[in-house]
Amino acid sequence: MRPFTSTIPLEEARRRLSAAVREITRTERVSLDHAAGRVAASNVRSPIDVPPFARSAMDGYAVAAADTAGASRTSPKRLRVVERIYSGHMPRMPVSPGECSEIATGAPMPEGADAVVMVEDTAKDSEEVVAILKAATAGQNIGRRGADILEGVAVVSSGDLLTPGRVGSLAAIGAGDVDVYERPRVAVLSTGNEVAEPGRALAPGQIYDVNRFTLAAIIGAHGGVPEAHHAVHDSIDALTGALNDCRGADLLVFSGGSSVGERDLILDLVAARGEMIFHGISIKPGKPTAFALVDGRPFFGMPGNPTSCLSNAYILLLPYLRAMARLPPFRPHTLRVPLGRRIESTANRHQIYTVRVRDGVAHPAFKGSGDITSLSNADGYIEIAEEDSVVTEGTLVLVTLF
Ligand code: AMP
Ligand code: MG
Repeated sequence: MRPFTSTIPLEEARRRLSAAVREITRTERVSLDHAAGRVAASNVRSPIDVPPFARSAMDGYAVAAADTAGASRTSPKRLRVVERIYSGHMPRMPVSPGECSEIATGAPMPEGADAVVMVEDTAKDSEEVVAILKAATAGQNIGRRGADILEGVAVVSSGDLLTPGRVGSLAAIGAGDVDVYERPRVAVLSTGNEVAEPGRALAPGQIYDVNRFTLAAIIGAHGGVPEAHHAVHDSIDALTGALNDCRGADLLVFSGGSSVGERDLILDLVAARGEMIFHGISIKPGKPTAFALVDGRPFFGMPGNPTSCLSNAYILLLPYLRAMARLPPFRPHTLRVPLGRRIESTANRHQIYTVRVRDGVAHPAFKGSGDITSLSNADGYIEIAEEDSVVTEGTLVLVTLF
């Protein structure tokens, strides 16, 4: 056994991680259908005015406002209807004094008209004549050409997250595809002689691989492309071979073998192929987490215990990955609710304590670092500071939801 020489505080681990972030620089072009959630890699200027023509914002009548001066319900102005303009069609007739055109919402304005009177403020005398019951002002109910987006204006800037609204603005200017940053490729690999692939029978002494799946889930949800690898045995040869198999990855996330047992070889691997940035954080669960540069690439050595592994994936891997993917920081939802039962924390480390929220009360859900149900039966977690050893029942706690 090699003991932990020292641990660093969580804040220090966060600092070292953010200093080590390398943003993805590769870009790709994706169709607009697949653009949502991606990060724009270039400025996109509009090649057109949006809308491309002046259009009616109402169903009604396109008029010259001057022709309707003084119109009211008691003294309507009667105008001759020269045509019906449908959306998707250009008007054929100009509107001359004493005339108007019936017009649909979104249809192009005819020449000579400068306002639309909505249908509710009119009464049809016949197919050819309409009574205008309310005077119009110039410009009313018209969407000017370019009112939404002017030609030449940037609708998206490099580095912008493509939200549904921004995807909409790209569609509005007719962009069929868009330059985005590639998603980081993240190799996910579990280590341990006992770790077996779900879907097969367990041999005596084996357990199923949990971490590969929890890590892949969180990586996929936060901008990465997880590359699944089968679990490898605890030998330096197997680990070295696995590392070589992960050549195409931008980020390596291994789990297991990161504590100080004699079979724990991550340390040896890093010593042989890289540089350790930290190993050991004063946090519970998840103390044996390591971060290193291995073959020049960022490498997380996550604890084998499934709860420790996933917990630290939320706390440390997720922010790192998002920064690498150029995504904005994750802002999880939080709740401030009373604690349903007293918690004693003997950890003397910053503690991530999972809770289940029912009827506005946070109930402890943490079982143990090895128990995935500590997380699967929880809705979120509270943080207990290193110096706090007891959180009493009824204390208002801040729950960070998953
Ligand atoms: P280690 O960090 O390798 O010392 O593992 C700590 C504990 O987590 C041991 O009980 C392992 O069997 C368990 N463990 C390690 N890797 C995994 C995994 N991928 N899935 C589930 N449990 C694991
Ligand atoms: Mg192990």
